[in-house]
This record gives sequence, structure tokens and C-alpha cells, in this order.
Amino acid sequence: MRKLYGIIGDPVGHSMSPLIHNYFFQKYEINAEYRPFHVRKEDLQRKINELKEMNIAGFNVTIPHKEAIIPYLDDVDEQAKRIGAVNTVVQQNGKWIGYNTDGIGFLESLKKSVPNFQDKKIVIIGAGGAARAIYFTLAQEKVSRIDLCNRTRENAEKIIADCRMGNVESEIYHLQQCEEHLDQYDLIIQTTPVGMKPNVDQLPISLKNLSQHAFVYDIIYNPLETKFLQMAKLKGAGTENGLLMLLYQAAFAFQHWTTIFPDFKSLKPIIEKKIIGG
Ligand code: NAP
Repeated sequence: MRKLYGIIGDPVGHSMSPLIHNYFFQKYEINAEYRPFHVRKEDLQRKINELKEMNIAGFNVTIPHKEAIIPYLDDVDEQAKRIGAVNTVVQQNGKWIGYNTDGIGFLESLKKSVPNFQDKKIVIIGAGGAARAIYFTLAQEKVSRIDLCNRTRENAEKIIADCRMGNVESEIYHLQQCEEHLDQYDLIIQTTPVGMKPNVDQLPISLKNLSQHAFVYDIIYNPLETKFLQMAKLKGAGTENGLLMLLYQAAFAFQHWTTIFPDFKSLKPIIEKKIIGG
């Protein structure tokens, strides 16, 4: 029987996940399809019941449901529990189990571009769901310094309170303070939606004090090169966009559903073409 998978979110029309997972199902000759489900905040409970009636085999969760989904799950893996957000749900014998693959997806992509990331002095810009997953994963990897820079101080404080571990040291700065001291960081991880399509001319902070030896990672993948990354390149810094993170988080989700870790080498240029083509 053909299995059903999908993604719930609002908005969800722009999501690359249907393209990615249907490509994987076809590549590995799995009789399954992956559909987008537009689910508004106020409709979550009703839609959850509908997905259960459809006997959905698994699904991804995106904005704004990554935290709200948790009470509807039968179990949540330890890591997702600590992060406080779920982006992948697997149905196992009628029970729904939640996982978070954003953190590990980010980590695997970072290892490719900054293999010695553990030695770096890191700042994360933003303190939303993606920042939580990234902070938690880096702290788990025994990075010694991860500062947070965010518009709303309390959101950054909450990340540190919930996710700090080991000997990691963290300070919290406002966006303007971070701009002023940016030269002290080796690795800048941009996790706000600022600069994302259609607001491609926006910058979360100025890079006037960026060191040319720094590496700037912007987890946005649409556009492929944000204004933030363009500015970082002009300063001579190394850069990476969010596409590899997107592919890795999808690959880990696919592995939860099928046990196969898919090869996405040939998929990357297809997604790039789709993003450039709008
Ligand atoms: P989120 O939970 O809504 O958090 C957004 C964060 O950005 C918050 O800390 C918010 O600050 C800050 N922010 C929003 N607008 C801002 C503005 N105008 N100026 C300054 N700060 C602002 O979102 P999320 O789930 O973390 O996702 C964030 C971005 O990451 C999105 O663009 C998403 O597409 C991308 N993402 C990419 C991947 C990938 O695989 N590449 C995975 C996940 C997410 P406050 O705390 O002050 O509200």
C-alpha cells in the first residue's frame, strides 16, 4: 500500500520538502508520497485528527507548530525534548514519536565548511526555534564559547537556561552591541528570517566590524546568497548558506522514516535551480 508522508505548517506552499522527499522516495523505489498540508495555528488539533484518520506514516513540522505539536505526540526523543521543538514525526505501531533533525542537520553541514568549528568563538544571531536547535547541538559538541545576539533578550536567556551544558560559556548581546564587537568572533551564525525572500535587501546587523578571517553561516536558503552573505564576502570572510542544512535535516528525517540515509548529491543542483527560478 502507498504510504503517506507530509509537512504541516503555515505558510507551507514555499516549502522545498515535498520536492526533496518525493525525489528520495522515487530514487529508492519506495511506494510513498509526500504532501504539503497547510495548517493554521487555530486548526492544529482538528488537522492532527485528520492526519491520524489518514494513517499518515510520518511528517515534518514547520513554523508555527514545532513546539505546539509536542502535546499531541506519544513520545519525544531526548534531544528534541531538550531543544523543546520537533520537526519530524514518525508513526511507529500507531504511536507518534517526535524528533528534531534541525540541529544535527546544521552540525553535519557545518563540519563540511568549518571542520575545526570547536576551536571557534561563535555568535548566533537570533533566538528562535532554529537558534535553539543549533545552540543545543553546538553545546553538546563541547564548543567552549557561544554567545547569543537577539532583539528580545528574554528569548536568548531562555535558550541558555534550557540548553546550556558542559563548560560552554555564553553572553547575551543586543543586536547593536553585537555589531560593535563583531571582530571578536570567528564564526557568525545568522538564524533570523531577515534577508529572506522577498525582503532580500534587509540585514539583521551591519558587518562593518567583521574580521576577514571570520566565517559567516546564514541558515536562509532562499535567496541562495542573502545580502548578509554578500557583505561578508566583500569583507573577505568565508560563507555558507542554509541549503546544505536543509538537505541534511531532510536526509535525517528520511532516515527516521525509512532507515535509509539518502544520497542528495544529485538533488542539490535541482533545488538550487528551483530556488533561482522562483
Ligand atoms: P523563529 O522561531 O520565528 O525565530 C526567529 C528569530 O529571528 C527570533 O529570535 C526573532 O527575534 C528573530 N527575528 C525575527 N525578525 C527579526 C527582525 N526583523 N530583526 C531582528 N530579529 C528578528 O524562526 P526559526 O524557526 O528559528 O527560523 C528562522 C529562519 O531560519 C527562517 O528564515 C527559516 O526559514 C530558517 N531555517 C532554515 C533551516 C534550514 O534547514 N536551512 C531550518 C530551520 C529554519 P525575537 O526573539 O526578538 O522575536
